[in-house]
Amino acid sequence: MDMAGALADPTGVELWRLGSDELVTFARDLGTATSAIQGLQLRTITEIDRRGAAIELGAANTARWLTDVSRVSPGAASRMVRLGLALDRLPDVAAALDSGAITVDHAEVIVRVLQQLPDDLPGDGVDACRTYLLDAARLEDPQALGRRGRELLARICPDDAELTEEQAVARRDLRISDCGDGLHKVTGWLDTEAAELARSVLSPLAKPRSEENGEKDPRSPARRLGDALVDLLGRAADHACVPGEGYARPHLTLHVRADALAAGHGPAAELTFLGPLSIAAARRLACDAEITPMTLDEHGVPLDVGRTTYTVSGSLRRALIARDRGCAFPGCGRPPGWCHAHHIIHWADNGDTALSNLVLLCGHHHRVVHHQGWSVAIGKDRQPWFTPPAWIDPGGTPRPSHQRRPQPAHPPGDYRGAA
Ligand SMILES: [Zn+2]
Ligand SMILES: [Zn+2]
Repeated sequence: MDMAGALADPTGVELWRLGSDELVTFARDLGTATSAIQGLQLRTITEIDRRGAAIELGAANTARWLTDVSRVSPGAASRMVRLGLALDRLPDVAAALDSGAITVDHAEVIVRVLQQLPDDLPGDGVDACRTYLLDAARLEDPQALGRRGRELLARICPDDAELTEEQAVARRDLRISDCGDGLHKVTGWLDTEAAELARSVLSPLAKPRSEENGEKDPRSPARRLGDALVDLLGRAADHACVPGEGYARPHLTLHVRADALAAGHGPAAELTFLGPLSIAAARRLACDAEITPMTLDEHGVPLDVGRTTYTVSGSLRRALIARDRGCAFPGCGRPPGWCHAHHIIHWADNGDTALSNLVLLCGHHHRVVHHQGWSVAIGKDRQPWFTPPAWIDPGGTPRPSHQRRPQPAHPPGDYRGAA
């Protein structure tokens, strides 16, 4: 298979014509070519950076320009620029990438390890480390190479391996990167004290929930910790300082068309920072929110801005807390501070904002009610009743709210009533 021809017209490559051996060889050659192309790409980016060509074109810097022209994420663009500059000073690593002997992931590991070596390494220490890592990279995958790099660092600079507390604080770092598939990756570093604080705050929030039908909380420990972080952030946003003139409290800001919100479908809602969100999620968020109505012209420019109001006022919320005491979902009972006021019939569907149409739900159970088929109704007793979807209870027997759950006649350990 002619590689240059294949790369010039990838769609025209007729893979079905290749025997299995040829196919496997072609895949291997493509891997080599990919590394070579990426090496060339990094050198090109470095040359653009060195000449300041991106800045001449008006971009803030080379990474920003790369984001615009190649539509890679800002994080990936910065990584490419940094790696290109580093490889410029490591010609043998760059040559290994060009020849396809190593991949761009290997090159990143080697650069990272070399940058962590102490400046005062005697003799040809740095060269020896580079050769050692490069040899290993030809044999191992990038993850194994990363482990080897950490071992190397621990051997060469055991003192540095044990960071002082202040150094560890200086290395605190948190990144939230958009994976582009509806998921955002959170990674980072904390010093021991900060990690202890995070654990002690998050652990109680991450405890398994006792489920109504006696079943174990199905969430993994990692999922529970993730949920706990989101709960904590929601609570921090709710309890942040009351705004001064011109300031908004830190909250999610969502732009959504009123007709789409009422219809339950239509153009997606937009988050300020991260873009589109489903109308179903917008309806859940709008249940308990501050709403600013705007009339827009056909170009989306506001013509008129109405007064901002809370969907659920302070006194109504207090009444709701007095009735439900916390999350009303059977088996939950999380405290009111963690709860949203859910409209049983959504206000966008002309549901009343009144005690007879509201129920207090924690973030998790608000999702369950909106997206997992549970329904809520206010009974003749003016209390909320929850009906599970058919896959949980085919009979659909309504269940009372958490604080009105059936209580055992005698609490455990209380035997005063016994003979
Ligand atoms: Zn709701
Ligand atoms: Zn709940």
